[in-house]
Amino acid sequence: MVSEYLKPKTLDEALSALADAASVALAGGTWLLVGEEHGIRPDLGRVVDVGELVSALVERKDGIARIGAGATFQAIADSPSLPDSVRRAALSMANRNTRNRATLGGNLGADKSCASLVPVLLALDASVEYAVRSADGKAVTKTAPLAAWLDAKEGLVLAVAFATPPGLKSASGRASRTACDVATATVGVAYRLEGGAVMALKIAMGGFGPHARRMPKLEALFEGKALPSKAEVEKAVEPLLGAISDQRGSADYKRRRGAVILADALAGATEVTA
Ligand SMILES: Cc1cc2nc3c(=O)[nH]c(=O)nc-3n(C[C@H](O)[C@H](O)[C@H](O)COP(=O)(O)OP(=O)(O)OC[C@H]3O[C@@H](n4cnc5c(N)ncnc54)[C@H](O)[C@@H]3O)c2cc1C
Repeated sequence: MVSEYLKPKTLDEALSALADAASVALAGGTWLLVGEEHGIRPDLGRVVDVGELVSALVERKDGIARIGAGATFQAIADSPSLPDSVRRAALSMANRNTRNRATLGGNLGADKSCASLVPVLLALDASVEYAVRSADGKAVTKTAPLAAWLDAKEGLVLAVAFATPPGLKSASGRASRTACDVATATVGVAYRLEGGAVMALKIAMGGFGPHARRMPKLEALFEGKALPSKAEVEKAVEPLLGAISDQRGSADYKRRRGAVILADALAGATEVTA
């Protein structure tokens, strides 16, 4: 239940309201306002609507892509400024009504196990611009690697940025039993090919832990080597994926689907500059 709704006009006001432990930021509300009936978030207390305070701009300038925290999944999916891998990750949220409300900032804040945008942004080595409250009550902007921000969340996310240099290839993927079902696994990859060898490989996956994160053991399998066939990737990856059995599927099923979407992503990665 929401006991109080605030709509601050400035970032300073928003951060001041959020300094109270009983307050929580509200963006599109597609995660925060869902689940009350299941007892997941029974009492929200005071919500602080930040929807109009964070930019929704999506742009690419001088080889840097930047996505405002207020950008919806649909805006990200539609943006010609973004690499295919990021647009597809946004589009993998099956329901258009939800894509029209769900935001990037909310996806990072919720940090769900099967988050759609987190894996591909981690693979692209994205950084986060976020605002925190200084001692004098003013908003101060900071920047951190996305991976570090996710592990020690603070402040309000303002935007995410990543480089799109020539030669970098990237892909994203999602597994679910039906298109509209909850995801079983999500993946994001990025790498360069140098003389036929995979270099600077980054793999992030969702569904194999409480949060979607980089998978260094999987990266080490393929770094510096020629990309194996999809069947070889699946065979090597499947035993290394740790999963629990739950309503999304058995642990074996998740490992299988995870290995398949990772093999597809590695084989299907496309240039981020395109
Ligand atoms: C039908 C349905 C389908 C869904 N499918 C998917 C899916 O395919 N993939 C997926 O990843 N998710 C899915 N979700 C979950 C949800 O839509 C996403 O996590 C979404 O990105 C949340 O964004 P939001 O703007 O609605 O955030 P909210 O629900 O408003 O907030 C989510 C969390 O983020 C915090 N937050 C919001 N903005 C910021 C900010 N700027 N800085 C820091 N923290 C912030 C909030 O305090 C809250 O903790 C689905 C939800 C529904 C209802």
